[in-house]
Formats: sequence, structure tokens, C-alpha cells
Amino acid sequence: MSDRTESLGTTCVQGGYRPGDGEPRQLPIYQSTTWKFDTSEHMGRLFDLEEAGYFYTRLQNPTNDAVAAKITELEGGTAGMLTSSGQAANFFAVFNIAGAGDHVVASSAIYGGTYNLLANTMRRMGLECTFVAPDCSDAELEAAFRPNTKAVFGETIANPALAVLDIERFAAAAHAHGVPLIVDNTFPTPVNCRPIEWGADIVTHSTTKYLDGHGASVGGAIVDSGRFDWCAHADKFPGLTQPDESYHGVTYTERFGLEGAFITKATAQLMRDFGAIQSPQNAFYINLGLESLHLRMAQHNRNGLAMAEHLAAHPKVAWVRYPGLPGDAQYDLAQKYLPSGASGVVSFGVAGGRAAAETFMVNLKLAQIATHVADARTCVLHPANATHRQMNEAELAAAGITPDLIRLSCGIETTEDLLADVDQALAAV
Ligand code: PLP
Repeated sequence: MSDRTESLGTTCVQGGYRPGDGEPRQLPIYQSTTWKFDTSEHMGRLFDLEEAGYFYTRLQNPTNDAVAAKITELEGGTAGMLTSSGQAANFFAVFNIAGAGDHVVASSAIYGGTYNLLANTMRRMGLECTFVAPDCSDAELEAAFRPNTKAVFGETIANPALAVLDIERFAAAAHAHGVPLIVDNTFPTPVNCRPIEWGADIVTHSTTKYLDGHGASVGGAIVDSGRFDWCAHADKFPGLTQPDESYHGVTYTERFGLEGAFITKATAQLMRDFGAIQSPQNAFYINLGLESLHLRMAQHNRNGLAMAEHLAAHPKVAWVRYPGLPGDAQYDLAQKYLPSGASGVVSFGVAGGRAAAETFMVNLKLAQIATHVADARTCVLHPANATHRQMNEAELAAAGITPDLIRLSCGIETTEDLLADVDQALAAV
């Protein structure tokens, strides 16, 4: 756990990289694949994990480590790592503790890419997943567990369903079965919610979204709370509690303690073998984004709520979904887990259905049509006409996407300009 006494905003600006006397003030980009050694013996000690240090960027790089350290400080964890994408982060977080013959429980309200990863790709690797609705009953949640369950997975605010995960409830269920809760915290960011404080054990991010915030680099991150006691459930997690023959017989929990075992194993084993590294250049961009995260999230929160309220009062809008909007089905959970704000993403339907949604979209001037969310610039997506355009109306309904659904990701522009843009586009409908 971080021993910081500073506030979150200060960590956004100054966390991770703390230069010493005479060192560069800005985070240096270590654009080097390799490090030079005077003796092979010295390099060997690093290979054996007997000594900390850098020798090959696929394993570790100082720029990446500084950015991972900042995200770890922000989330209140003990260790963290960057990955090439959010997809890689979620894959590593699950696969680090669950493989062939194992099972995970996941919320059904998660990003489509993660759903596909768990439901199809990891199934082909021999791992089974049971999906539960985030608002399932306690009995339904309990019934999802099996003796070979190794983890529970959910998203704090689900993309695109905007369902809020009851982290305490899911953490309690996971812990009662001796397994950790992994939470993808991409949409709230640690500014709006810190899942570890509510009992989550591992936190993941698509840094591509708000953490970068400028649409400049694809990336991911994993943060370990250091709180889950792998040794108390050693039979479930032999990869962490027994010698790793593929890494000179190291036992991760013994050598690195509960605070370091998970991330060291993910780095030494999964990054070594899968190689889904973040480039140091992109890590630098993520860090630039992080320096203003607290300021940007405050404006995203303001714009998201103002937009939701404005749309809810508009006669041409059929429905609005925003967790921070009073009366929303997720409102109570949002008040508990997202007291500072529910981020910038709003879903809504225009009266008149699919055709009206299309007319609305083409008439927007500030909001831009993009396969992206959680960016400084407002962007908008009409799933029925874009990401889900191959589906007919019945298939869309089965996927929970109404033909009129518009996902509006409010950026950090001036609130009144965004509302005016929406008004003039609605006037054209
Ligand atoms: N998790 C969430 C919540 C997402 O929204 C996304 C992408 O939209 C991902 C993970 C995947 O991240 P990436 O696109 O960086 O691989």
C-alpha cells in the first residue's frame, strides 16, 4: 500500500517518477531494447530475479515502470505493470491465476471484447466462464461458483451497459470461495472510484481511454492490491505458491511476498512468453495524460451529468441511461461507489427510433462519430449503425442494444457548447 500522504491530484501530477538530484524533470523515455553489463554473471543475477534491474524491455523498462508505479499509487495497490492494450491487461490478469481446467465467474455487463475473450477465446484454451447479471440475486451469484473457480471478474461501470458493479457484494462472494475479485476500472478511473478500497483484489485498465485521455496510444495496466492471501488458498493457486520450473524454480509468494507475487509472475511468465508490452514512447504519452487526469475527470463528470439531465428533459429524447442521474436504475450504486461523478458516458434513445438516431448523428457538429469513448474530445457511436450493423432488429434486441441507442462520450469541452450541439442536432430530427 502506498505510504503517500498527498492527495490524488498531486499523485496524478507527480506520482511514479521522482527524479533525484540533477536528473531530468520530465520522465525520460528509455527507448532501448537492451542494457549493457560488465559481466555475464551480473546479468545472470537479474535473469534469476536475485537482483532488481533492467536487461531487456520485453520484461521491464524504466519508463513503463514509472508509469505503472503512478497508476499503482493512484489505485492504492502494491505492484503494477503496463501492457500493450486493455485486452492484454484483462487476459493477463485472468490467465495469471486461471488456465485449462479452471473456471471464472464474470459479470455479463462487460465490454464486448472482454466478453469475447472470456466466452470464446479463453474457452478454447480450456477455461470456462459463467456469466451472471450484475444485479443477480445472492442465490444466483452463489450458484455460479464451482470447486474449480479461480476468480471473479467485473467492470466498475460497464461499457456500454453503464451498469455499476456492487464491488463489495462481488468481493464478499469471491472471498467466501477463496478467490480474488478482478475489477476493470477503465470508465471511472481511480479519480471516481478506487475498487481496492471496496474489496477488489486486482484492478485492470484500458489506459487507451481516460488515463491517456487524448486518443494518442493504446495501452493497458494491471494493479495488485497485495491483499489477497494466495497462501491461504495455496491449493487453488499453485502457480503462485509452488516453484515455477520455467523460471529457475522460483516460488513467487515466497520470494516476493503477497505484495509482489502476482505482478512478478505476470511479468516473468506471461510477458516473457506472450510479449504484449507497452512501448516506452506510448507509456510516456500515458503519463502526460495522467498528469491532468484529476482535472479532466472533473469536467467529464460535469459534462456527463449536465448532458444526461438535459437529454432527460428534452421532448425528442425517449430515454436516458446515466448512473449519476437521479431516478436512474443505477443511481443508488453510483452514489455509493462514484460519489465524485459517474464519468462522461451517457446512453440515450431519440424518439423516432433508428432513422431518427441516424439523422441526429449526422447533424452533430462538435461530437464526432468514432469507435472510441472516454476521450477529451466528445465522441458518439450509434451501435446499430456501426459496431453492430450486421445485426437485424431481433439480434440487436437480444444483445440489449435498441436500434435507437446512441452512446455519447462527453469530452472536456465547455458544457454549454456540447448541450447546444445536441440541441441543434435534435432540432433536425
Ligand atoms: N475494458 C474496457 C472497459 C473497455 O472499454 C475496453 C475497450 O474499449 C477494453 C477493456 C479493451 O481495451 P483496449 O482497447 O485498450 O484493448
